[in-house]
Amino acid sequence: MKAAQLIAHGTPGKFELCELPVPRPTAEQVVVDVRACGLNRLDLWLEEGGLPIQIPLPRTPGGELAGQISELGSAVTDWKVGDTVAIQSNLYCGECEFCKRGEESLCLRSELLGVNRDGGFAEKVVVPARALASLPTGVGFETAAALTLAGSTAMHMLTDRAQVRPSDWVLVIGGASGVGSAAIQIARQLGAHVISTGSTETKRALAINLGAAFVVDSTDANWPAEVRKLTNKRGVDLVIEHVGGDVLPKCFECLARGGTVVTCGATAGRDISFNLWPFFVKQQRLIGSYGRNRKDLVATLAWAAAGKLKPVIDLVFPLDQAAAAFAKLRSRDVLGKVLVKP
Ligand SMILES: [Zn+2]
Repeated sequence: MKAAQLIAHGTPGKFELCELPVPRPTAEQVVVDVRACGLNRLDLWLEEGGLPIQIPLPRTPGGELAGQISELGSAVTDWKVGDTVAIQSNLYCGECEFCKRGEESLCLRSELLGVNRDGGFAEKVVVPARALASLPTGVGFETAAALTLAGSTAMHMLTDRAQVRPSDWVLVIGGASGVGSAAIQIARQLGAHVISTGSTETKRALAINLGAAFVVDSTDANWPAEVRKLTNKRGVDLVIEHVGGDVLPKCFECLARGGTVVTCGATAGRDISFNLWPFFVKQQRLIGSYGRNRKDLVATLAWAAAGKLKPVIDLVFPLDQAAAAFAKLRSRDVLGKVLVKP
C-alpha cells in the first residue's frame, strides 16, 4: 500500500511516498481503507519536530480520517467488512478509570493516531475497533474527515468542558480555522450570540456566513476593546480559544464577570503572563480541553447528519501531494480544512 511518510523533521519536513506492506490487524483491531484524511495543526507540530515527545521516523501522519473497513481482527464482532467509519484520533485504552466513566480524553494510556503510531496519509490504517464510530446516513467521507478531529474538538469544548446557555455571548477565536468554523456553528445551534475573530477580510466573511453576529479584525491590537464595545462593555460569557501565546490573556480582556475561557491549543506560544487579580475578583474560569470523548465524536457525526454542522473544506490534495497539503496549512491561507485523499 502507498503511504506518505515523514522521513525528516524540519520546516518544511521531508516526505516520501512509500510502498509499505498492508497492515494486519491483531485480534481487537481492524484495517480501514482510508477515503479521506484531514490535516491539522498537530500534523505541522509533528512535521517540525515541535511536540514535547520524541517521534521515531519514518512516521505516517494523519489523525482525522474516514474510510471503509477492509479486514477484521479475530475478536471483532460488532463491525463488518464494508462498514463506513470515522476514527477517534485519541486512541484510548477502554480500561482505565477515566475510560470506564466515558472520559476517554483523559485516558492514562492514550495514543495519538498519526503521532504515536502510523496514521491516515496512507491507503490503509490499522486501529483498535473501539476507536471506530459509524458514519450516519448522509455523512460522506470528506465531511467526516473534515469534522472527526476538528469538529469533535469544538464539540468537546462547548458541550463537555463548558456549557452554553441560550443567549450567552460566545467569542470564537479564529473563526475560519477547523476548530473555529465548527465552534461558531455549535454555539449558534445552542442559542448563543457569537462574536469571532479573523485576520483577513475573507476569513471574517466566512465567520459571518457560518453564523457569527459580529467579527473583529485580529490584526488590530485593540480587538479586545472592540469585543467589549460590541457587548456594551459587559464582555462575553465564554471564549473558545485554541491559539495560546499573547491571544490567551487578551481573551480575559473580553470576558464578562463569571465568564469562562476554554483553551485547547498553544500555536502562538506555551508560556504566558497572566494577571491573577481581575481573574479572581471577577470569578472567572480557565479550562483546559484536550481531544474528545467518544460521545463528542458520535454527537459531531449526528449533528453533521442532521445538517446542524457543516464542514468547511478549502482544498483536497491527492496522497502524492501530501507535502503541498502541509505547505498550504503552514501558509495559514486556509478557509476551514485541508484534506488528503489516497
Ligand atoms: Zn483509558
